[in-house]
Amino acid sequence: MRDFSYLRANSVDAARQAAALPGAMLLAGGTTLIDLAKCGVAEPDSLVDITHLKGLDTIEIDERGAVIGALARMSHVADHAGIKGGFPAVSEALWQAASAQLRNMATVGGNLMQRTRCPYFRDPSNFGACNKREPGSGCSAIGGVTRGHAVLGTSEACIATYPGDLATALVAFDAVVHLGERRVLVDDFFLLPGTTPQKEHAIEPGEMITAIEVPGSAAARRSTYVKVRDRQSYEFAAASAAGGPQRAADGRTVRDLRVALGGVATKPWRARAVEEALKGKVLEPKAVRAASLLAVEGAVDHGANHYKIELAPRVVARAILKLGEAA
Ligand SMILES: Cc1cc2nc3c(=O)[nH]c(=O)nc-3n(C[C@H](O)[C@H](O)[C@H](O)COP(=O)(O)OP(=O)(O)OC[C@H]3O[C@@H](n4cnc5c(N)ncnc54)[C@H](O)[C@@H]3O)c2cc1C
Ligand code: SF4
Repeated sequence: MRDFSYLRANSVDAARQAAALPGAMLLAGGTTLIDLAKCGVAEPDSLVDITHLKGLDTIEIDERGAVIGALARMSHVADHAGIKGGFPAVSEALWQAASAQLRNMATVGGNLMQRTRCPYFRDPSNFGACNKREPGSGCSAIGGVTRGHAVLGTSEACIATYPGDLATALVAFDAVVHLGERRVLVDDFFLLPGTTPQKEHAIEPGEMITAIEVPGSAAARRSTYVKVRDRQSYEFAAASAAGGPQRAADGRTVRDLRVALGGVATKPWRARAVEEALKGKVLEPKAVRAASLLAVEGAVDHGANHYKIELAPRVVARAILKLGEAA
């Protein structure tokens, strides 16, 4: 049993100051952090409990979009009428994440910050080599069991998949993370592993997520989230896709299209090549299937995860065709 201190923060500034100290970690719903501490991956010297901070669990919607407080519970956001109406992909991604109990406990800020489910990362007593956990130690997954690992955005140092659903929907619609006053696009908030897989987010010590802002748009209003997984609930994505179109004045041709992939990349993955290929087109099956193949341009497999290269374009096509049917 490892000793740690516990502090209940009573303001954002106090939380930030406490979290800036070496060995300190923020505690929100605790659904990931406590797991990681139990398996010896997270070794906090102090936990800074932010769950009682006032005003960080609100959801504000106006004509510009939605601002979701970092401490809003996943279930609350998923079920919010303004989110369901203006950002269905966000609501659907949350509904399909984790379990009802976890969604009631977990916060959206904690959800963005969740770590990979790479089994080697989560088993330090049996697998010493993990560059994400211990920089320079190697990667047990490369040459190991790779069925759940990424095919996009990987490096020689790490091939771990980013597992979250919410961020996949957010990256499609240019959502922005609020770190107090600082603003970072979700796409820039998540970092590629490169040679430093231990650094996953563009967040510095002493910063915390205070809110997530999702710009309102026609594409976001018509959006959807499709998740394919080994079982129909309580499972991470084998591949997922968020998408949303904006139609031109003729009501059929696509003026703007947003597409992002989850479960197949080292970060939430915007599929811009698919978006570009379908602009100006009608969302009919042949064109959609051809364009969806571009989602995995540059993909690299490690044996057992090859199926993701086949699966991801089908999931993208399914999401886009669902949008076409809904038009
Ligand atoms: C069995 C299981 C299945 C799951 N399935 C899915 C799934 O299908 N899809 C999915 O998306 N997720 C899934 N999850 C992950 C789950 O959604 C996360 O555990 C949850 O969202 C984390 O939120 P939390 O508030 O509990 O975070 P915590 O566990 O409290 O914190 C997680 C991390 O975020 C940091 N943190 C928390 N809040 C902030 C903040 N405001 N600013 C900066 N850092 C912060 C903490 O320091 C910690 O490092 C699953 C989890 C479990 C245990
Ligand atoms: S894939 Fe990444 S997280 Fe998994 S063992 Fe290799 S370095 Fe660690």
